[in-house]
Amino acid sequence: MVIDISTPSCEANRSRDIKGVVLGIESTAHTFSIGSVDGMGVPSKSISAFVRPVEGGIHPREAADHHAQHAGHILRRFLDEEVAISDIIAIAFSQGPGLGPCLRIGASVARSLAMRLDVPLVGVNHCVAHIEVGRERCGCDDPVLLYASGGNTQVIARLDGRYRVLGETLDIGIGNMLDKFAREQGIPFPGGPEIERLAQKWLLDNPKPSLDGLELPYAVQGMDLAFSGILNAALNLVDRGEPLEAVCWSLQEHAFAACVEVAERAMAHAGKSELLLGGGVACNERLRGMCSIMSDNRGGVSHVPIKSLCVDNGSMIATLGRLQLLWGKPTELSDSAVRQDLRTDETPILWN
Ligand code: AMP
Ligand code: MG
Repeated sequence: MVIDISTPSCEANRSRDIKGVVLGIESTAHTFSIGSVDGMGVPSKSISAFVRPVEGGIHPREAADHHAQHAGHILRRFLDEEVAISDIIAIAFSQGPGLGPCLRIGASVARSLAMRLDVPLVGVNHCVAHIEVGRERCGCDDPVLLYASGGNTQVIARLDGRYRVLGETLDIGIGNMLDKFAREQGIPFPGGPEIERLAQKWLLDNPKPSLDGLELPYAVQGMDLAFSGILNAALNLVDRGEPLEAVCWSLQEHAFAACVEVAERAMAHAGKSELLLGGGVACNERLRGMCSIMSDNRGGVSHVPIKSLCVDNGSMIATLGRLQLLWGKPTELSDSAVRQDLRTDETPILWN
């Protein structure tokens, strides 16, 4: 069943209910994922495949080959297990930002499906999708988003109808920093969860831990962040013979405190009382805990979606695709080229 989306922003489309399922395709970096939302915006489970490099970081071309190899069977599994093909009324895909070769695989799958099913195509902004899935699922209204993922670390707030980046990393994403540190210790990608486990072990073995001798550089630069210095200093601590568990704990304490400090300043400047976490690093219990303490201290609230919606996933792309269909218009084939460097504030926020 195809909804009438011929009149952009028409009142009929602004009802919260559209008849049918929006499929979402995510392929910005290491994850190829398909998910969906139903007419009321309730997400399905996403079915995903992750690139896990045997050694080194993610190579864009190899990741794109991985996505191309997995796209067909993920789509078949999704249609077998999650939605009936006849219920699909639109195909949303990550148009950017991300790695060009990876984005192009997702976009090609999306275009082919949209043409085959004769339904609209909706290109969405991956960073905005993290915000909207969090807002919809956590029931928060007007948050500051701390988006902490592999490739991105941004603090974002809605001002004048756009999500504005108030602070961001000047070098590598926080997840990337954790993954690089882990890789040097022989821990495979993704390194963040194992660093969390080792840090928790250090705390169990040392109920009153001290940062003496484990200090790392200050990562805050005005409203921005930088993680290369912390990474190098943490590697030096390990070389100097400090226990790996202790360095993992210190690394988390320093890097997360920096993110929380910038998020707090953004809340103060923008006059917002809600904080929302997104991105894979938002799976980390220590980061979640620090965010709640900071928000509580300010009389605010910290929200975090379930872990499967923090990491890159197809359902969040479908969530934003559905909103764009309700409030905007679909993406013409001629406008569907991927945008590697699409900025968060380039996407107009038409919905409330
Ligand atoms: P994303 O790029 O948003 O899909 O998230 C992937 C990133 O999240 C990788 O850099 C992971 O190492 C990181 N990550 C996932 N789980 C955790 C965790 N529990 N603690 C810290 N980082 C994590
Ligand atoms: Mg992401």
